[in-house]
Amino acid sequence: MGSPFGIPVYVSPTWFLVAAFITFGFEPLVRGQLDMTPPGTYVVAFVFAVLLYVSVLLHELAHCVVARMYGLPVRRVTLYMLGGVSEIEREPETPGREFLVAFAGPALSLGLALIGFVADIWFIPDNTVVGVLTFQLWAANLVVGVFNMLPGLPLDGGRMLRAGIWKLTRDPGSGTIAAAWVGRGLAVLLVALPVLMSLMTGQSLGWVFMVWAVILASFIWLGATQSLRTARVRARIPHIQARTLARRAIPVTADVPLSEAIRRAVESGAGAFVVVDHEGRPIAIVNETAVNLTPEQRRPWVTVGSLARTLEPELVLSADLGGENLLEAMQHTPAGEYLLVERGGEIFGVLSTSDVNHAFKGV
Ligand SMILES: [Zn+2]
Repeated sequence: MGSPFGIPVYVSPTWFLVAAFITFGFEPLVRGQLDMTPPGTYVVAFVFAVLLYVSVLLHELAHCVVARMYGLPVRRVTLYMLGGVSEIEREPETPGREFLVAFAGPALSLGLALIGFVADIWFIPDNTVVGVLTFQLWAANLVVGVFNMLPGLPLDGGRMLRAGIWKLTRDPGSGTIAAAWVGRGLAVLLVALPVLMSLMTGQSLGWVFMVWAVILASFIWLGATQSLRTARVRARIPHIQARTLARRAIPVTADVPLSEAIRRAVESGAGAFVVVDHEGRPIAIVNETAVNLTPEQRRPWVTVGSLARTLEPELVLSADLGGENLLEAMQHTPAGEYLLVERGGEIFGVLSTSDVNHAFKGV
């Protein structure tokens, strides 16, 4: 749609569905308040739908502009059915910044609501097109601002709560876990409260309202669950150590048949092969997937050299690497296997990417 502040804005096709939905839902209200007939009333209702999303866009841009201010790269903003998402590529480094990036959105929505409210009360006559639109817009921005301030992830209020707990405990992980559980609680309340109230008052709920409540609640529940997963993965990262995950490797020369290399590995209880030259220096590393894909009967006729990847300097990692540093080194040069060496350059073993992935399984 364009790039305000250099931030590309996309509109998902689902938005048109919701715009139509809002137009038809809002049109009777317009007809009731204005001396107007269709199709004029539909045009006014559609203008409201567009302006509503313009205010959602401004809300997202507020997040992005503050994130930018802290040097966080912003990929894009997408408007879709339930509102907008800002894709910010990194997380803020401090809880204070996290709080401000999250707060910027609702602050902007509430600011718009206040401006609209003041204009509506003092300057704009009722029962005019501008009057009806202004009233609906400030009310909608108030709802958007307040709803997003609810203190559960993935809502902005959840990120603010997370920042607060992060500040208190100095642990971003426990902030995420607490705010995500509050988010799950909110999701349940969003459906349970209207149902309870309708049971108590005997008034039936509109199905449209219930469908929206269920859609919003599932969105919040799934977002909270995703945050919990991310927090658990993050918590495990410091425990990922190259040394403890390493496989013992046996050196073989490139001309050794695969079947013979496997026999030697089994005999010495090793889990990987390193191809060495005649001086015993490592020159290549054998790919486990390629070994597994070689049928049993072909193995005597295939040399280990043909299944090996030449050792580039990036495939040689220090056995002391661990945590974030290890993952970064692996991301920098994706491979199935890495050679682990001691500080003096002696071979310690082989780190298999599948073993690292396995260490994150069940998280
Ligand atoms: Zn927001």
